[in-house]
Amino acid sequence: MLKDLFVKRQYATVKSSTLKKSVPEEKPNIPSGMWEKCDKCNSMIYAEDLENSKFVCSTCGHHFRLNAKERIKVFFDKDTFKEFWKDLKTTNPLDFKGYEEKLKSTKTDSTEAVVTGVGKLNGIEVACAIMDSFFMMGSMGTVVGEKITRLIEHATENKLPLMIFTASGGARMQEGIFSLMQMAKISAALAKHSEAGLLYISILTDPTTGGVTASFAMEGDIILSEPNALIGFAGRRVIENTIKETLPDNFQKAEFLLEKGFVDAIVERKNMRACIYKILILHGVRN
Ligand SMILES: [Zn+2]
Repeated sequence: MLKDLFVKRQYATVKSSTLKKSVPEEKPNIPSGMWEKCDKCNSMIYAEDLENSKFVCSTCGHHFRLNAKERIKVFFDKDTFKEFWKDLKTTNPLDFKGYEEKLKSTKTDSTEAVVTGVGKLNGIEVACAIMDSFFMMGSMGTVVGEKITRLIEHATENKLPLMIFTASGGARMQEGIFSLMQMAKISAALAKHSEAGLLYISILTDPTTGGVTASFAMEGDIILSEPNALIGFAGRRVIENTIKETLPDNFQKAEFLLEKGFVDAIVERKNMRACIYKILILHGVRN
């Protein structure tokens, strides 16, 4: 019948609170952070096992990226690392819009993209900078440059060997030219450390790019790298577009750089302590 078309349909009203209660909780109650997924082979790894293996996948050997705190824990003798200049903060020299908010939103314990200080390796004291890619992609601004320079000067004054674990997306664009001049400042301090006959070991970790690669990462007396680390200056696409050529698959990987002579050795994380200890002893460094 035509009039049936105009009959109001009847709806029952269900309160949303009632609705929620009636849906059974089906998700298993797994505490977050218990399992980690390997980015390379997708295996699920129990968080505690991952920590015990120094954050290296037991299935495929993939080296997870470490923040500075984790790096210190897996590398130095227990509780020997003393951090210097933790409270240095940037003044936002260019008044870059949104920079302060970006700095506050970082999710790592580090107060800047590098942690500097002294620590012990089998009892030998070394000056060490550890870059943190979880802090604004390890970008190098004035504070990063200042902390690393002060550390090198401390090493020179105290006749200490120097180590820098690099991890960086490059210069920090929010600080423009102030960021770029850190390359020269650090390099000048490194030259004085070298003139004093002291040893500098650079350890490249994933990723080491831009201005860091163009300066102190490649100025080590000995340059080591973790396996499969991305190491480069400009990005792959930029280079391909400039030279109009296709680059090999492993281009900018640690293994490719080793082949071309830019890196002295690729060292797995589990062997890094032993390797650096041996280098220190060979160079006459004693505790
Ligand atoms: Zn894996």
